[in-house]
Amino acid sequence: MNTMTSMFGTHVFNDTVMRERLTKETYQQLRKTIKENQRLNPTVADAVAAAMKDWALEKGATHFTHWFQPMTGITAEKHDSFISPLDDSRVIPEFSGSELVQGEPDASSFPSGGLRTTFEARGYTAWDPTSYAFIKGKTLCIPTAFCSYSGEALDKKTPLLRSMEAINRQALRILKLFGDEEAISVKTTVGPEQEYFLVDKDMFLKRPDLIYTGRTLFGAKPPKGQELDDHYFGTIKTRVARFMDELNQELWKLGVLAKTQHNEVAPAQHEQAPIFTTANIATDHNQLTMELMQRIAKKHGLVCLLHEKPFAGVNGSGKHNNWSISTDTGKNLLEPGDTPHENAQFLLFLCAVIKAVDDYQDLIRIAAASAGNDHRLGANEAPPAIVSIYLGEQLSEILQAIEKGEEYGCREQEIWKVGVHTLPRFPKDATDRNRTSPFAFTGNRFEFRMLGSSDSIACINMMLNTAVAESLCQYADALEDSDDFSETLNQLIRATIKEHKRILFNGNGYGEEWIREAGKRGLLNLKTTPDCLPYYTKEKNIQLFEKHKVLTEKEIYARYEILLDTYSKTLNIEAVTMTDMAKKDLLPAYTAYVRELSDTVIAKKAAVPEADCRYEEELIRTISGLCGCMYQNIRQLEDALMNAEQGKDDELRTAIYYRNIVLPAMNELRITADEIENMMDRKHYPYPGYGKLLFGI
Ligand code: ADP
Ligand code: MG
Repeated sequence: MNTMTSMFGTHVFNDTVMRERLTKETYQQLRKTIKENQRLNPTVADAVAAAMKDWALEKGATHFTHWFQPMTGITAEKHDSFISPLDDSRVIPEFSGSELVQGEPDASSFPSGGLRTTFEARGYTAWDPTSYAFIKGKTLCIPTAFCSYSGEALDKKTPLLRSMEAINRQALRILKLFGDEEAISVKTTVGPEQEYFLVDKDMFLKRPDLIYTGRTLFGAKPPKGQELDDHYFGTIKTRVARFMDELNQELWKLGVLAKTQHNEVAPAQHEQAPIFTTANIATDHNQLTMELMQRIAKKHGLVCLLHEKPFAGVNGSGKHNNWSISTDTGKNLLEPGDTPHENAQFLLFLCAVIKAVDDYQDLIRIAAASAGNDHRLGANEAPPAIVSIYLGEQLSEILQAIEKGEEYGCREQEIWKVGVHTLPRFPKDATDRNRTSPFAFTGNRFEFRMLGSSDSIACINMMLNTAVAESLCQYADALEDSDDFSETLNQLIRATIKEHKRILFNGNGYGEEWIREAGKRGLLNLKTTPDCLPYYTKEKNIQLFEKHKVLTEKEIYARYEILLDTYSKTLNIEAVTMTDMAKKDLLPAYTAYVRELSDTVIAKKAAVPEADCRYEEELIRTISGLCGCMYQNIRQLEDALMNAEQGKDDELRTAIYYRNIVLPAMNELRITADEIENMMDRKHYPYPGYGKLLFGI
């Protein structure tokens, strides 16, 4: 076995380890609980905990933690050692079933959107046995869901698991109707492609903006950017290659199927993608990947930037969420089949997605909403803020033919009928050429391309699962009530195409024309985070989530508030960092430069009275003027920040204020500061500039 295969999964308490280390009975009971999503009985829990502890100790672990994903978007862990006193002088390692199954972190400092009042500040974490425990460093990590005492979800994982349950329920109903008696469960599968930047750590540490906000708040463009496209898929530099090598090894140990890596469009930008797995494990693995990227980069003298827009004027980073639906028997339900019967089923699932994405455009948009991603969406490097679906020409033509009951293509010239015809295969190449669509069908899955690089993928998958569950539920209701299965099926498919074709768009999603066209079609264009978040609490969305038991109304409001609050806080930190940098570093540096120029003029004139000082004088005049202007910009931004304090308990109003008043003031300050940077000498500029950051590794 080579090192890659021998190291894979060595740090994971996976199925093989469980089978080896648990008695047959315990193992079978655990498998049953996982499969049927039941509560773990205490005896089984104790046995599993003991085996897990022994395994972890052998691997050098000293601590355990319930590893969870609070609403902050990053993962949280509170470590406890296995240590337990035996008598006065000795200790033994202990880990009980109840410690495995449930933890009680004092969680009062996690955002809860008012779901937890402080007197019941403790939440609890509950093991999610569908995701394996693993060892990170010296800690046994137990993937868990995080809830309040009254059972409300305080994390990103709980609703994701609930949404997987919802789509499982509805998809099974449909499969039964198609005569599939084999499938016991249906899961959504996900493969996320992760973009990121790497910059030199020493340079990073010289930039307060990168340290505090993850993006540059000042900085003029270097003479060379990404215009030559010479970085994309280019040779990977040595230091970066070493980083990637270690990252892969660590990911493999954790059972993450790290697969693809390459340079991206922007200088210093890269991409990593694993092989797909079930949605909840993919979510855990993506969180782990982001965490490891940041940790391992530091070991190589690098810093990994996961921000959506670290550099103005240079492409930002996104994340592509490849998503499909699969049975436990290994059937991909979004794969066109070989028989007319399979095709009918495929078309119904396809229609379920089309209907879901059209009916819940707002929710899909919300999954990609953040202060960081607002810089990307609609900025000619990422899809617009309008949600639409790309199906490719072939499939679109077939849908058109079905809708109109027409003949399709040159084959046999028959009327296209669902359940009678076979579909042509859709090779990936034929369907994936359009990279400008936010939601593209790529042959046997959909690829959602709106996410920001730092987003958790939990939210988009929760939205997709739930919305598609609703379409499937409506279809199943109609089909179960029908006497003529084929006829009803045809009607459902035709009606879906008719009602929802406005969401289908194969053209250039980056173009101005599409924005106009989408407006005519009545599609939503929710440009910024404060524009889209209010849709979260719309009646139709509350109904959707409550019907499928994914989120309660209270939980929805909590999420809405947390997202708004995070948006305002992010902008607040950025604005404060800007004024700080401007006042303490930039203006003093600019003035020092002016002072040097002035000294030069005086010295030159003393030496040679008629010396030509136009260059220095011109610069002194212009830069002094701009410094005055910059001072005004700072004052304006500070005023804006001061006024933001008012009405703080109305989260939406505050967020809109930050967007309308604070953000433009930040932009003005930056424009002035960058203009001066472009005029001055390198020596006086207090930070490593874009050139060094982007090309310095
Ligand atoms: P591209 O860059 O062309 O979009 P990549 O190969 O980089 O493609 O990424 C494709 C991603 O899609 C991978 O993570 C892959 O595992 C995932 N994928 C493939 N099939 C499925 C599927 N059925 N369900 C979910 N994800 C899938
Ligand atoms: Mg992709």
